[in-house]
Amino acid sequence: MKTFVGTFVLLVLVGAMPASAQSPETILVNGKILTVDAQSSVREALAIRGGRITALGTSAEMRKLAGPQSRVIDLGGRTVIPGLIDSHLHAIRAALSFTTEVNWIGVRTLEEALGRVKDAARTMKPGSWLIVAGGWNPQQFKENRRPTQAELVAVAPENPVYIQLGYAWAMLTPLAHKTLGLTSEADLPAGGRFERDAAGNLTGAITGSQPAIVGLFDKLPRPTFDEQVQGTKAFFRELNRLGITGVIDPSGNNMTGESYQALFKVWRDQALTVRVAYSLGTQGSGKEFDEIKATTALLPMGLGDEMLRFNGIGERITGGMYNNDKPGQADKDEYYRIALWAAERGLTLTQHWNRDASVDNLLAIFERVNQRIPIAPLRWSIAHLNDASEQTLRRMKALGVGWTVQDAMYFGGEAFRESVGEASARRTPPVVTAKKIGVAAGAGTDAHRVASYNPFTALQWFLDGKTVSGVALRGPEETPDRAEALRLYTIGSAWFAHDDDVRGSLEVGKLADLAILSQDYMTVPVDRLGATESLLTMVGGKMVYAAAPFK
Ligand SMILES: [Zn+2]
Repeated sequence: MKTFVGTFVLLVLVGAMPASAQSPETILVNGKILTVDAQSSVREALAIRGGRITALGTSAEMRKLAGPQSRVIDLGGRTVIPGLIDSHLHAIRAALSFTTEVNWIGVRTLEEALGRVKDAARTMKPGSWLIVAGGWNPQQFKENRRPTQAELVAVAPENPVYIQLGYAWAMLTPLAHKTLGLTSEADLPAGGRFERDAAGNLTGAITGSQPAIVGLFDKLPRPTFDEQVQGTKAFFRELNRLGITGVIDPSGNNMTGESYQALFKVWRDQALTVRVAYSLGTQGSGKEFDEIKATTALLPMGLGDEMLRFNGIGERITGGMYNNDKPGQADKDEYYRIALWAAERGLTLTQHWNRDASVDNLLAIFERVNQRIPIAPLRWSIAHLNDASEQTLRRMKALGVGWTVQDAMYFGGEAFRESVGEASARRTPPVVTAKKIGVAAGAGTDAHRVASYNPFTALQWFLDGKTVSGVALRGPEETPDRAEALRLYTIGSAWFAHDDDVRGSLEVGKLADLAILSQDYMTVPVDRLGATESLLTMVGGKMVYAAAPFK
C-alpha cells in the first residue's frame, strides 16, 4: 500500500550513512531492462539495496556505485522485466494440491497426458487418488478429445482416477465411483448426472451444473496439512519459474477458512516467494452478508505486509449475483446492502461477471453505492467480462472501477465465437478500447481449474489472439502491442492490490521484483513467446528462482 513515508525515511537514513554502507547489495549490468515506467524506458543496468531499486542507468554508471560487497550479475544482454503479477489467479487453492494432483497444463497430446497419470500411479502412494482438477482443454491435445474411462483404467488400474474439465464435466474410473459410493444418480450432488454416449451407454463421466461439479470435487480426499504446505511452496516456486512475483487471489469455489492455513504458515515461516493479495468470498446462499461480516470482522482493509495482504471481498459476493444474468430485485437489493457496507468499511471489492448483456445489473448497483460513497479510491473491479462494450467501459471509467482480463479465449475461443458470432469474437476482449477510455486494467489467467497459470501463454495470446488449437479470433483493432501487454501484466495488475506505487515497474524506490528472461520478450517471434521462462527471479531483491547460467 502507500509507503511514501517509509521510503522517505529510508532515503534520509541512507543519505546520512557513510559511503560504503550505501553501496548496492546487487547490481545487474549489461542487459535490456524493460522498466515499464511511464515512457516504457529501456535501461542497461540497475542497482538494488534493501530490497528496492536504488538506481538505473548504464552499466558503467552502476559499476561505479558498486562496493566490495556488491554482487554483480552480468545479464549478458538478456531481457529483464518487472516481476509479472496475475490479477486474477486462484493461487491459494491451486497451491494446496499442487504436489498431490496431476497437472495437464500445457501438455500437447492426450497420450502424454495419460502418461502423466501413469507416472503418478507409479510415484504416489499405492492406491492414492489421481486427480486432474482442471487447467486443460481437449483442444490443446493433438487428438482433440477427452480421455475415455478405459484409457484411464489402462494407465492406472489400481488407483481411483478423477479428471475434471472446467466446471461441467468430470471423468471417474470405476474404482473412483466405487470409492465415492456413487452407485446411482441419487448419490450425485444435486444437478449432477451420469453422462451417456450416443448409444445410451454410461461413459463413466459425470456432467451437470457448476455447483454439482463443485460438490463432487468436495467429496474427494483433501491433501494433509503438510502436503498443503509443501504444495504451496512448490506452486509458488513454479510461478517464480515463469517470472511471477505477485498474485491477486479472488478466493473461489471450495474455499473455506481452512484453505488459507497453509498459506498463512508459509508466510509466518517467511518462506513466501510470491506476494499475495487476497480477497474473501462466500460459499453459501441466503446468508452471504452474515458470512462476509464474520470472515472480515477482524480484518481491516489492507491488513498484512508486503508479502501477504488482505485485499477486500470477492469474487463471489452473493449467490444471487453469481453467474446469474437475470437477478431478481431481491438479489439486487441484497447485493446493494453488502456493497454499500463494503464501501462504508473501505473495502475493495472484485466481482466475477461474464457477459456484457447483463452487466447493467451490477453497474447500476455500483452507481447507486457511488452516490452515497465514492468508490473510486476503493479500486473495485469486475473480473472477466470478455465482451465488455464501449458503453460499459465508459461507465466503469466514470466509477473508477477496474477490469481484470484473462486469457479465457485461449481455451474457450471457438465456443465463444459460436455463441456471439465472428464480429464480437474479433473484439474480445477489448483491451485497446479500455486503454483508450482509461479504464484501469490488469492481466491474468483465472487458473488453475479453468485455465493454465502460465503468464507467457497468456501474453502470447494477448498478442496473437490465437486459441490453443491455433485459430486466430481477435482482430488487430483490439490487439495490444508488446509493451502494452507487459504493462497489463505488471503495473496494470499491481493497481488491483493498491500497489502500483511500490511495484509493477522497475523504477527508483520501487521493490526489486524482477525476472531475467530466457528469450527477448520484445523480439522473439510471437508464436514462440509462450515458451519463455525466467532464468532468475527476484522478489524484493532476493533470489527466489534461478536456472543456468545463474544457478
Ligand atoms: Zn471468476
